[in-house]
Amino acid sequence: AEQIQVSVSQIIMTLMKMGIMANVNQNLDEDTVVLLAEELGASVVIGKVQEEEEEEGLEVFEDKDEDLRPRAPIITVMGHVDHGKTSLLDAIRKTNVTASESGGITQHIGASEVEINGQKIVFLDTPGHEAFTAMRARGAHTTDIAVLVVAADDSVKPQTIESISHAKAAGVPIIVAINKMDKPGANPDIVKKDLAEQGVLVEDWGGDVISVPVSAKSGDGIVNLLEMILLQAEVLELKANPNRLAMGSVLEARLDKAKGPVASLLVLNGTLKAGMSVVAGTCSGKIRLMTNHKGEKIRQAGPATAVEILGLTEVPHAGDEFNAVKEDRIAREIAEHRKEKKREEVLARNSSTTLEELFSQIQEGEIKELNLIVKGDVQGSVGAIVSSLEKLSAENVRVKIVHTGVGAVTESDVMLAGTSDAIIIGFNVRPSTAVSAMAERDNIQIRTYRVIYDIIDDVENAMKGMLDPEF
Ligand code: GDP
Repeated sequence: AEQIQVSVSQIIMTLMKMGIMANVNQNLDEDTVVLLAEELGASVVIGKVQEEEEEEGLEVFEDKDEDLRPRAPIITVMGHVDHGKTSLLDAIRKTNVTASESGGITQHIGASEVEINGQKIVFLDTPGHEAFTAMRARGAHTTDIAVLVVAADDSVKPQTIESISHAKAAGVPIIVAINKMDKPGANPDIVKKDLAEQGVLVEDWGGDVISVPVSAKSGDGIVNLLEMILLQAEVLELKANPNRLAMGSVLEARLDKAKGPVASLLVLNGTLKAGMSVVAGTCSGKIRLMTNHKGEKIRQAGPATAVEILGLTEVPHAGDEFNAVKEDRIAREIAEHRKEKKREEVLARNSSTTLEELFSQIQEGEIKELNLIVKGDVQGSVGAIVSSLEKLSAENVRVKIVHTGVGAVTESDVMLAGTSDAIIIGFNVRPSTAVSAMAERDNIQIRTYRVIYDIIDDVENAMKGMLDPEF
């Protein structure tokens, strides 16, 4: 409906006329979509994603049925704040510590692997719905099942409802973990009733959604929950082709002072091998070292495996897609092509701003928005800076974050600043000499900081016309 700009009800009506009773959350098969489009005067382009990939120089794989092998399910934990998402993930990891492993320290690489009854389950470490939105464009999912955590003593709350909407929109099945069963006020029946009101019908309510009472605190029910996840996964018949070049999603990435760019990747299809060339978003490189969730060096990683790699030349963004390619040259070309595309997307406007000049421009009514590019050494601080900056506002100007990223200030940041009239803020990161020179030439201001508070202070003062001009 969105893409061809007709109302949802018009689509449902048209389907009814075709003799198909569908609701908003239902999937339609390809033939129906083509017929429906015809009725509505739209056309369906099948395989567009592949065309785009080919244009980029990526090899297109059509996995044949006989090449597909079962793979482990990938799980995201969702739910209202304080209902126990983090505790549940901790409890799950603890359940899994078998005698032979107990000495090992689990490495944080964005996802945890647990094994139950000899079968693997992958849990994304970051609770929330971001995993759904990432990578959906190319038809691959980073989540197979959503575990919806609902506290038994608090029942359904706004973020519970939000989580349900996201899971439904992504077509990801839900398993409900009714948590905090150890608490005196625990009432799973109320939770089930409230869920029913949100269209989530658990088995006791005649629906097909699995619900499991658990306590992340005592560990009760955790094994049962894991078994239920496997059961649900079995129904989904998850498969992948291990014999192809790997593709997947960037879970996390950071710049390590000693190791350079470090990226956690989730392999969704294919097998990733050490020494391979990869392109991740607009970054490329050759895998120098690959480690698993136990910090062990590994040579290859098949579908539904999270790994950490060294060897990228820049820091990609969490959520970026990655692809293994045959040659380093191809990786570089694709990365360059994507960068170029990004640049083109930002229209060229030739002027520049410094924080010092800002106030007079604000007063003269010349600018109404302060555009900022925020780069930092870790995602956490970038997030914190952005949310503090977005809260700042003066009478007639507001802060607009044009771009954020982890890693040093790069050429592409300077270019973006040039085309979007932005000031670049670097937190614990610096530009290289070449990038500084480029910024100077283009009159782009790069301000580097070591204290978050100073950033907020400077921007706020600039907006009020109080910034020390000699800065
Ligand atoms: P999140 O915000 O959903 O990640 O929730 P947390 O995992 O941080 O948990 C919120 C609070 O609830 C913490 O104080 C936990 O100790 C507590 N909590 C989580 N699970 C349980 C449980 O099963 N039983 C009890 N009694 N407390 C729990």
